[in-house]
This record gives sequence, C-alpha cells and structure tokens, in this order.
Amino acid sequence: MEKNCVFCQIIRGEKPSEVLYQDETTFVFKDIHPHAPVHLLIVPKKHIRSLNDLTEQDNHLISDMILRGKMIAQSQSIAQSGYKLLFNVERGGGQVIFHLHMHLLGGW
Ligand code: AMP
Ligand code: ZN
Repeated sequence: MEKNCVFCQIIRGEKPSEVLYQDETTFVFKDIHPHAPVHLLIVPKKHIRSLNDLTEQDNHLISDMILRGKMIAQSQSIAQSGYKLLFNVERGGGQVIFHLHMHLLGGW
C-alpha cells in the first residue's frame, strides 16, 4: 500500500467511493467521471504502478480482475448488450492514476 496513492486510499476506506464489490484480491468502484452509462474501475488491492510492472508472480491478479469484470457486467445487466475492458498504460497510453486498474465501460 502506498501512502499517497488515491486508489490505495480508496481501498483502505480513507477516501470515499461508491464500492460495488471487493474480495481478497480485487476492489471495484464507480469511476468519478464516467465515460459510459456504466463506468467502473476494477483494481487489484496490491499497489502495482501499471501493467508494465506486472510480474509473472502477480499474473493471477489480472485473471481475477477480468473474471470479476465479467461477473459485474452480468450483475449490472450489461453483459448481453456488450462492454469494454480497458487498460491505459503509462502517460502515453492515457494513464493518469498510477495504480493498476481496468476500466469496465458499457450500458450504451
Ligand atoms: P486512467 O486514465 O486509466 O488512469 O483512469 C483513471 C480513472 O480514475 C479516471 O477515469 C478518473 O475519472 C478516475 N478517478 C480518479 N479519481 C477517482 C476517485 N477519487 N474516485 C473514482 N474514480 C476516480
Ligand atoms: Zn495504490
């Protein structure tokens, strides 16, 4: 956990967020500036800066995130209409929060 990381603060409950789901490895909350009718952030609880910093050891975190994304798309009733799962990687890739996260966008 990083002291000054916004997403670590959200995970620790030090910063408010609209939490939809959490388990041992993964935390899911609403994006504060939604770009779709449903815009959620699926985040590993472990602080990892970006996809570039993912190690083989932490590989399972990504499958957890994708499986939770699929589960939440179903529970939000957007699975059938379709959705996007998106990683922005580093500044050139549009990443502005440097705690690994996956966007779930859908509900159009
Ligand atoms: P990215 O550009 O991939 O780093 O996306 C970061 C996302 O985090 C953006 O879509 C922001 O709207 C969102 N965001 C930033 N701060 C918060 C917050 N406090 N609560 C919820 N979402 C946030
Ligand atoms: Zn963090």
